[in-house]
Amino acid sequence: MEETETTSPAETEALAARIAEDLQPGDVVTVAGELGSGKTTFVRGACRSLGVTGAVTSPTFTIGHRYDGDVTVSHLDLYRFAEVSHAEWGDLEPYFDDAVAFVEWPEAGAGVLPPPRVRVHMRHSGRDRRSITIDRADTRV
Ligand code: ADP
Ligand code: MG
Repeated sequence: MEETETTSPAETEALAARIAEDLQPGDVVTVAGELGSGKTTFVRGACRSLGVTGAVTSPTFTIGHRYDGDVTVSHLDLYRFAEVSHAEWGDLEPYFDDAVAFVEWPEAGAGVLPPPRVRVHMRHSGRDRRSITIDRADTRV
């Protein structure tokens, strides 16, 4: 478990980029934290490091995005879900297939999401400051 504080969106992106260097298709990264805590900013930084060059925006009003980088990258946001049902999981599952997958608001997917490789939790700690905890699984499952 690593706890760190960033003082700008760029710093959060750089931290995420560093973490993404170690990721491979099949890896899931959950990014939890309140609204505006920087989850999408974190995913954007990770995407840049994985070779995604286009816009990385919040998929709040769609199930998710798929980006073509050096690997396929999926970006999901479960904000709309109280709890992901097994039927809904059928729509989500393809996003995890042969992709590095980032999941914002992962709490609703607790019963169905594959075990995450990295768990990120973000908190406001000042105007442009965010406290970020990074919890990595020791081994891939
Ligand atoms: P979320 O996806 O958690 O709702 P966003 O990444 O969409 O959050 O928005 C975070 C907002 O906070 C952005 O406007 C961003 O510019 C701002 N911000 C300020 N400081 C930071 C920081 N240290 N890290 C990340 N975002 C920050
Ligand atoms: Mg977001």
